[in-house]
Amino acid sequence: MDLFEYQGKQFFAKYGMPTSPGKIAFTVDEAVQAAEELGTPVMVKAQVHTGGRGKAGGVKFAATIEDVTEHASNILGLDIKGHIVGRVWIEKASDIAEEYYASFTLDRSAKKHLGMLSKEGGVEIETVAEENPDAIAKIWVDPVDGLSEDQCKAWVKAANLPAEAFDGTVDILLKLYEAYTDGDADLVEINPLILTPEGKVHVLDAKVTLDGNSVFRHENYEQYDETQTRDERETAAHSKGLQYVGLDGSVGVIANGAGLAMSTVDVINQVGGKPANFLDIGGGANADVMAGALEVINNDPNVKAIFINIFGGITRGEEVANGILEAMKRVDIESPIVIRLDGTNADEGRAILEPNLSEKLLMETTMLDAATTAVQLAQ
Ligand code: GDP
Ligand code: MG
Repeated sequence: MDLFEYQGKQFFAKYGMPTSPGKIAFTVDEAVQAAEELGTPVMVKAQVHTGGRGKAGGVKFAATIEDVTEHASNILGLDIKGHIVGRVWIEKASDIAEEYYASFTLDRSAKKHLGMLSKEGGVEIETVAEENPDAIAKIWVDPVDGLSEDQCKAWVKAANLPAEAFDGTVDILLKLYEAYTDGDADLVEINPLILTPEGKVHVLDAKVTLDGNSVFRHENYEQYDETQTRDERETAAHSKGLQYVGLDGSVGVIANGAGLAMSTVDVINQVGGKPANFLDIGGGANADVMAGALEVINNDPNVKAIFINIFGGITRGEEVANGILEAMKRVDIESPIVIRLDGTNADEGRAILEPNLSEKLLMETTMLDAATTAVQLAQ
């Protein structure tokens, strides 16, 4: 679950991190009222689930109420990388001496939490990582041991922050780690973490991704569910109980079992294609489930071919075959379908499909051949 910046700041504030006072506004009037209550100067900040808002004109300094009106009018409704701004965060403006970067995320291969800290914040960290990797101090934290104060100090030292920023940064990083672990986050990022001319270290931007599976442990997390921006295809698929992840290619994928669905995505890439989605229909491949899956894929305008990859286990081949044929009667499918059917009673299943084959319904014996055919048809 991705949080908006202001939700992320409220989340950080609960763990004692210093953030600026602010108010959320859905209209220009509300923005003006918020600015009047906070007192100018303020920042007018687009709240969208994407970064780089500043560059896109979604973060503006407002010295006066007139400025607030102007900026809020321009920013509300703005399209930032496909996200339409529906709310702005009005925040008391800060003076900035320096901008840093700080984050925690999971390093799966190291089986540890990875903390990153850089005195070159504010800009895109990917650019720093590419052009000046030494400017990022990294720390790997064993989740069992946690982050000790001594470790944290050594890490901040390695980042070469100025002496006056040292204590404040250590304090914030310890709290950031606490928020990250206690809050069941997948990512916490502060960019920029600022040093003010008065020597205070302060959170100026917040990017937080919470683990959706932890909602049951945090009674206030349900509120974030409403503000998620969802792929329309995913919403439709989830309402049918399908395990679906939208991707941006042209080959629709239907497979039974998450492992097989992932291999299918891989093999499509391997033969030079691009999957339009990941879709696991689970163990059962009856007509209802298959029709639901085909409907979701059929509604994706990017799909040019569909690859149905089924390995019969408990579900027998003839049930799968009948399910596919029945589903094709119910859904008016636009793209050609390539089927690979293997496993329990695969021969019986293939015998059922055989008389129905056409240029819209093809069958291959192996997964690789089926992927190759589907990718060719999608081109
Ligand atoms: P992002 O572009 O989506 O990462 O949005 P940020 O919240 O990081 O804002 C972008 C930039 O705007 C920051 O790097 C700052 O340079 C600037 N900015 C944000 N808030 C303030 C503020 O309170 N005062 C000043 N002077 N600049 C700010
Ligand atoms: Mg930022």
